[in-house]
Amino acid sequence: MSSPEVSNKHRVSVIRCDDYESANVRSALEKSLSHLGVSFKMGKKVLIKPNLMSPTKPEKAITTHPIILEELCKILKESGSEIFIGESSFHKTEIAFDICRIRPLSQYAKLINFETQPQRIVSFGGNIGNVPLPNILFDVDLVINVAKMKTHSLTGVTLCVKNLYGCIPGAIKQGYHNVLTTPQSFSRFLIQLHNEILPQLNIIDGIIGVEGAGPGISGQPISSGLVIAGVSAFAVDIIASEIMGFKAEDIFTNRYSGLQRIDIEIVGDGHDARLPFEKPLSASIPCFQFFARFIPQSRIDFRSDYCVVCGLCGEKCPNVAISFDSFPTCDNRRCVRCYCCMEACPHGAVYLHEHWTRTWLRAIAKKWSGVMRTRDN
Ligand code: SF4
Ligand code: SF4
Repeated sequence: MSSPEVSNKHRVSVIRCDDYESANVRSALEKSLSHLGVSFKMGKKVLIKPNLMSPTKPEKAITTHPIILEELCKILKESGSEIFIGESSFHKTEIAFDICRIRPLSQYAKLINFETQPQRIVSFGGNIGNVPLPNILFDVDLVINVAKMKTHSLTGVTLCVKNLYGCIPGAIKQGYHNVLTTPQSFSRFLIQLHNEILPQLNIIDGIIGVEGAGPGISGQPISSGLVIAGVSAFAVDIIASEIMGFKAEDIFTNRYSGLQRIDIEIVGDGHDARLPFEKPLSASIPCFQFFARFIPQSRIDFRSDYCVVCGLCGEKCPNVAISFDSFPTCDNRRCVRCYCCMEACPHGAVYLHEHWTRTWLRAIAKKWSGVMRTRDN
């Protein structure tokens, strides 16, 4: 990729794209690259990091859509790139390549399961210590991060910075939740991880996003009709969070990035897009943050009509908080609210059971914000 002008570093392109028709996606990607002033140099090694969080069909909208990746591969092939698509899913990466319909892209790119790659140890210090990362992240000329536009019960949103968590190979990922037990500590870790990998181009598949209890299939698909891109993952995430209806600084990865909203320029036909995504129930209650701390916390629960007792949630819980006696139950004293169980459940059976007082305050806050908006108009 030829470097954009320094003044373009914090430019974010927001392009409208209503569907996954190849021609429309190709056009959105080309417009994004043109707005950002980037072009690909001939014959380079390029690694694409999509979001393939679990083996789930693209129609569920929780993974990067294969058409975005295919069109990006075609553009890269035109400049003679050697392409790799790399991922370590939350579970079953090889099966995720099949079910997420990535396997056919091996006609353009080598598919890389990060779990089976040579790794190097990177020191993160503190209570994290050494983190293994696949060598290929550092051996290629260019890393392109292609995230999905989703809400996330722990971090508020999962966009470009959070997508890099999938570069950590295998089950070691979920273990970090035992020491990174707050959204703040987890977000600081994500910033450190980003600063090690430093993807040079960051794209969000926001054509169909996920709202509510994301990032897994407990969330709801939402037609958001956007492709968002930039050189800086921080800038792209700040703009995408705003479009999703969050205050950018309420997302800790945005806050800790050190980048100010005022320093970001937005271009493209979707520059004024506003799509208030339904927030996860774990999000703070607007107007009532002070009172909310005196109300019992929400707890993990399981829908008996969806659960098939497959045991995956228990397997993925980093703190052994889930036990099975013909049906899963969560020991809330052990639960660190990392939401790995919600992410893992292939049937959307894990949910956050909110205390009725929280539900009531949330409803009032929503009503108030509606009144305030009406007055503003
Ligand atoms: S992962 Fe989902 S379906 Fe499987 S046991 Fe847990 S709640 Fe039930
Ligand atoms: S029960 Fe779920 S939210 Fe609680 S610690 Fe285990 S995986 Fe995390």
